[in-house]
Amino acid sequence: MPPDTDPEGARRIVAKITKRSEDYSQWYIDIVTRAEMADYAPVRGCMVIRPWGYAVWERMQRALDDMFKATGHQNAYFPLLIPQSFLEKEAEHVKGFAPECATVTRVGQEPLEEPLVLRPTSETIIWAMYKKWIQSWRDLPLLYNQWANVVRWEMRTRLFLRTTEFLWQEGHTAHATADEAVQEAERILGVYRTFAEEWMALPVLTGRKTDAEKFAGAVTTYAIEGLMQDGKALQAGTSHYLGQNFAKAFDVQFQNRDGELEYVYATSWGVSTRLVGALVMAHSDDKGLVLPPKLAPIQVVVVPILKAEADNAAILAAAHGVAAPFGGRVEVKVDDRDNVSPGWKFNEWELKGVPVRIEIGPKDVEKGQVIVVRRDTGEKTPVAQQETAGRVEAILTDMQESLFARAKERLEANCRKADSYDEFKRVIDEAGGFVFAPWCGQPGCEAQVSEETKATVRCVPDDAEACSACMVCGNGPATRVPFARGY
Ligand SMILES: [Zn+2]
Repeated sequence: MPPDTDPEGARRIVAKITKRSEDYSQWYIDIVTRAEMADYAPVRGCMVIRPWGYAVWERMQRALDDMFKATGHQNAYFPLLIPQSFLEKEAEHVKGFAPECATVTRVGQEPLEEPLVLRPTSETIIWAMYKKWIQSWRDLPLLYNQWANVVRWEMRTRLFLRTTEFLWQEGHTAHATADEAVQEAERILGVYRTFAEEWMALPVLTGRKTDAEKFAGAVTTYAIEGLMQDGKALQAGTSHYLGQNFAKAFDVQFQNRDGELEYVYATSWGVSTRLVGALVMAHSDDKGLVLPPKLAPIQVVVVPILKAEADNAAILAAAHGVAAPFGGRVEVKVDDRDNVSPGWKFNEWELKGVPVRIEIGPKDVEKGQVIVVRRDTGEKTPVAQQETAGRVEAILTDMQESLFARAKERLEANCRKADSYDEFKRVIDEAGGFVFAPWCGQPGCEAQVSEETKATVRCVPDDAEACSACMVCGNGPATRVPFARGY
């Protein structure tokens, strides 16, 4: 039965979405697949990013790329294949990545002289090239970024959040001094935070990763950490100060202003298609995706309510008339398909997270009005046709802000304190979220907590409160850091 003669059909799309309260992780998968953002690929752990998901990623890319360029970075491209020996040059790096590396060992039937690794990240190939390009302080800084795919053979995967191949950007910068490199790593952390808050409407905690959690080969890893609706944390972006580790591994020295040879200081930083998963988890509801207007591929959909065998010309004209004044400022689509019912369209665009829907039926045409429906609140407002563009633009701005405000409220309500380890275990189990508890900084205590509770130190904030005793070993001094179970 075609959907336009099947009023229940539209409801069935939504009926297939598991409720958050029943099974959060199935709810997430249902939204990603039903909203046609991504699908499973034939190779386990890989995903196909479908046009709707890719359009969200493109919007993210555009905003981030503008921010990187505004802070002085240039894009470049380095190859997918890396000689295996390169990976082995930095000891920590190879230890961290070797178990996840996929390697090309033969072409046709001929074995390769040296196996080639599919990049899990590009520090090694980039620093092999920087050796050719950097001789003097005059060559510095190099502020490069690349948009690329990487491959990490993951055992447990989940669409967008953790996949064997994913898309990302990786910045790789080279500097003459440690101070300048640290500043760069911190500047990018700020860029990521701004992007998360202003574009994704996702409030984040920021800080340094512990030694156990930092990037393999980094001196310091900084991270932004978001909170999802199920109370689990999600690392959404990292920025690393690499010191001289890669410069030493690849023998990249430069002549400083005093004429002495010195190893170059480095940073690297990245965010990936994981952000799309974070976006889904942060705002969506049981009807489907909820997208912040700034990242929605279509921001406004106009649905003319057409009747079979009626004269629909006036309604269609009004629908197009309402869409026109948005100009290029807002992405508007008039959904004038005549092979599905209006109810079907409402459900479909709700599922896909379009922020605002405008309905126009015969009565609205008579009254010179439209009905404006907001995706996040479901609020319906009649608006005079000639005022529609202005009103809707105000709603889009308000929706962007209110999604952030709501997420921030949720984050704040889910930041709790615990002083003893018993209290900590109880709060983690009963309430989840971020639990701020005193830790002495020793890896043994950190490992014990993660083994016994599955919660990890998400980051060490700059302004962490000083405490007298660690909740695990009782030794001091300690600092109060956020623990959480995470993705
Ligand atoms: Zn301790």
